Amino acid sequence: MLGSDEKPLKVAIVGAGPSGMYVADALFKSKIAVVVHAYDRLPTPYGLLRGGVAPDHQRMKSVSKYYDRVAGHPSFSFFGNVDVGSADLPFEMLREYYDVVVLSYGAETDRSLGIDGETLNGSFAATEFVGWYNGHPDYQLRQFNFNAKSVAIIGQGNVAIDVTRILAKSQEELASSDITAVAMDALKDSQIETIHLIGRRGPVQAAFTQLEIQELGELKECSISVDSQDLVLSDSDELELSDNRKAQKNLEVLKQFSSFSLSERKKKHIYIHFLKSPLTVMGEDHVEGLLLGRNRLEGEPGQQKAKSTGETEKLDVDMVFRSVGYAGIAMPGLPFDDRKGTIPHENGRVVGSEGVISGVYVAGWIKRGPSGVLGSNKPDSTETVQSLLEDLPNLVLAERREASFLTVLKERGQRVVSFDDWQRIDAEEIRRGELVGKPREKFTSLDEILLFLDS
Ligand code: NAP
Repeated sequence: MLGSDEKPLKVAIVGAGPSGMYVADALFKSKIAVVVHAYDRLPTPYGLLRGGVAPDHQRMKSVSKYYDRVAGHPSFSFFGNVDVGSADLPFEMLREYYDVVVLSYGAETDRSLGIDGETLNGSFAATEFVGWYNGHPDYQLRQFNFNAKSVAIIGQGNVAIDVTRILAKSQEELASSDITAVAMDALKDSQIETIHLIGRRGPVQAAFTQLEIQELGELKECSISVDSQDLVLSDSDELELSDNRKAQKNLEVLKQFSSFSLSERKKKHIYIHFLKSPLTVMGEDHVEGLLLGRNRLEGEPGQQKAKSTGETEKLDVDMVFRSVGYAGIAMPGLPFDDRKGTIPHENGRVVGSEGVISGVYVAGWIKRGPSGVLGSNKPDSTETVQSLLEDLPNLVLAERREASFLTVLKERGQRVVSFDDWQRIDAEEIRRGELVGKPREKFTSLDEILLFLDS
């Protein structure tokens, strides 16, 4: 039977980020005989752990040791720099070589606001900035306007908080992070004095978490404030708060911020705004301001939505970041839910118009949407592997090719980056970091990595 020592299950994982690594982990723990090949578009594994988690949150990066242990399993291989789903490497082609494919390639793009002026110079997705300061090769050519004096960040999730903190921190505070040298250098000359953090709903509904918001109150060169009027709660808010521990903790921190005196303003200052939605990013060809509409909340406690009051106000800002969530992109040839930005599934089994597609699974953000911390992917991936194991006796398998897909890639001249290669990259980045007192100095381009590997 498939999954026995005579016939190990051959699994391709597309996307070697946290959810992909947890899929591999769950497969190995299941004790079936399995060969796991994890593909990634990038030459480096671990997805958002490297490209998303903030460079000054090094403690969170220690989970890489767990992923290293998974990758060290004798049946695991990493094939980096392989873009499954691209025109010259369609999904169907990969599919022919594996019994099962698990898609765990995350949510690579950003959600837009759909308002006028969103594409002006100086208006960016937070994900671009995050990718840039984290050394993601796709974002290294972005040019942010650090001559801006005033910046607006739209959205109040933890990504918005990360972006705020990186803009607000001093060079000294960033020095022990693994922010790229280029980003550090550009931020050195930053003229930013004011950062507006804007939420469309109230303090009880804010998506950030306590530790993250609290950190904004502990910065060396940046003060923070929130209008105490914004913390006055309605009856619905009170009801919502009563069984929401996260919101209670956030509110404690916000109350503290509301007591800070504006006369103690530091070199930079963060204003937290609630109940305001962006209406227009203003300007001719670059950002000159942001028109906001005031909101009130309507709906049942727990489901309150922002509704416009009709009042507006203008913020003088020179740069805008929208931080309203990531979005997944489709895998050509497979079903896709455009509205949710995810691949439709039942407990991880991909579902098309004619039902479950045998042997194709999803895990992580491309399955459930962009929510949760890295560890949230573990139960999510475990659920997918559970479905896979249940299906195993009945998997309807197309005849798969016995040849190695790696051979096919190599014949096509593809420079595949192996896990051994990654370990060399990793060691070199750490070595370069040590020279300048950082945890690592990242490579920021594919060319640079390939040159290093093949030198
Ligand atoms: P998120 O937590 O979903 O937050 C998105 C924010 O955008 C919310 O405040 C949301 O407000 C707002 N928003 C959405 N559409 C909007 C619109 N049209 N106009 C104005 N505001 C809008 O997303 P995220 O910050 O991208 O984070 C993604 C996940 O990664 C989250 O689970 C997050 O906790 C996690 N993460 C964790 C950390 C950490 O642990 N340190 C760091 C980064 C990210 P509404 O609530 O009103 O929709």
